[in-house]
Amino acid sequence: MIYADNAATTPVSPAAREAMIDAMDRLWGNPSSLYSFGQKAEEALSDARARVAGCLGAEAGEIIFTSGGSEADNQALRSAAALGAKKGKRHLISTAFEHHAILHTLDALRAEGFEVTLLPVHEDGLVRPEELAAALRPDTALVSVMFANNEIGTIQPIAELGAICRAAGVLFHTDAVQAAGHLAIDVKAMNIDMLSLSGHKFHGPKGVGALYVRKGVPVVPLIRGGAQERRRRAGTENLPAIAGMAAALEEACAHLEENGAKVSALRDRLIAGLSAIPHAALNGAASPRLAGNVNFCFEGIEGESLLLMLDDAGIAASSGSACTSGSLDPSHVLLAIGRPHEVAHGSLRLSLSEANTDEDVDHILKEVPRVVEYLRACSPVWDELQKGERDYVIL
Ligand SMILES: *Cc1c(COP(=O)(O)O)cnc(C)c1O
Repeated sequence: MIYADNAATTPVSPAAREAMIDAMDRLWGNPSSLYSFGQKAEEALSDARARVAGCLGAEAGEIIFTSGGSEADNQALRSAAALGAKKGKRHLISTAFEHHAILHTLDALRAEGFEVTLLPVHEDGLVRPEELAAALRPDTALVSVMFANNEIGTIQPIAELGAICRAAGVLFHTDAVQAAGHLAIDVKAMNIDMLSLSGHKFHGPKGVGALYVRKGVPVVPLIRGGAQERRRRAGTENLPAIAGMAAALEEACAHLEENGAKVSALRDRLIAGLSAIPHAALNGAASPRLAGNVNFCFEGIEGESLLLMLDDAGIAASSGSACTSGSLDPSHVLLAIGRPHEVAHGSLRLSLSEANTDEDVDHILKEVPRVVEYLRACSPVWDELQKGERDYVIL
């Protein structure tokens, strides 16, 4: 079976696994306890914090460990909203193609009286810095723009957006869950005030993540209780997961360029090969794009059937985000970049990692065109397109 769904989750790396087992076997003390069992755990926790911070150009005290990317996103938005409300600022800016951890939190904040502007995302899968500048208002409390999109892989001009926000004195958060461990990140140089990441997207364990918060920016705890994480997130720390995540992130960051070069070469072969299928189109610009991301729309077919047949052909892929498969709604990301409903249903995301090979790409390039052709042959929509009773969206 070829695993080509690394944007949904990744297998745990040997280094992360070893760090986790060591933490469970040897570091099971409570980091808050004063005797040596606790102190050894506390040292490992501090070490993990310093290592995660180091990968982002941050300081250890600026890292809050969370239960994952979703919690980090929720906490970033809630913190900025609370701070804004204190100053009478109730306007939030984000984009139409964010992860649901952002969009659904914004829905909740809207219901609590905040006003939300969602910046448009263009056909190339990018937001425009000048459109952000134009949307800023005196009462804007926060701008949140994802670093790289989880469905179409397009990489946003984060440093430019950060500079605009810093100049305007507005807090800037980025959901970097798809970027951390895959792209170089420097929170200081990029003027990022808050950043979310998640362990399981870079070969760490699931259920653990981090929120970077620039020193001096006040944070609202989502979970209250003990004084852990400097009173910013209560609860005894999940040290095995935290140590595993730190080991995975450090390893990923040490091999960024090498992995990026290898994976993007595989991606580019896939994009070139799939582009030869008639009435198929890459979603989002080919560049700047995550090294592992390939996302196509195929006219006249349903993404769900495509995935099931690819599963039979030994290929694990997805039709968008893991969270929307299972629902029959078309992807909000594809709609945001202007794909009409009828083609947004026929999408395929292949997300590669450094574990994929040229043989994997050969197999995918053999199977996808075959399956697309088969499904079109039984598709009434394709039949209408062929007879000219309906217009092609993808020429
Ligand atoms: C996976 C993902 C999340 C959610 O992270 P979890 O750790 O699974 O909660 C948030 N944002 C983006 C862009 C993601 O890809």
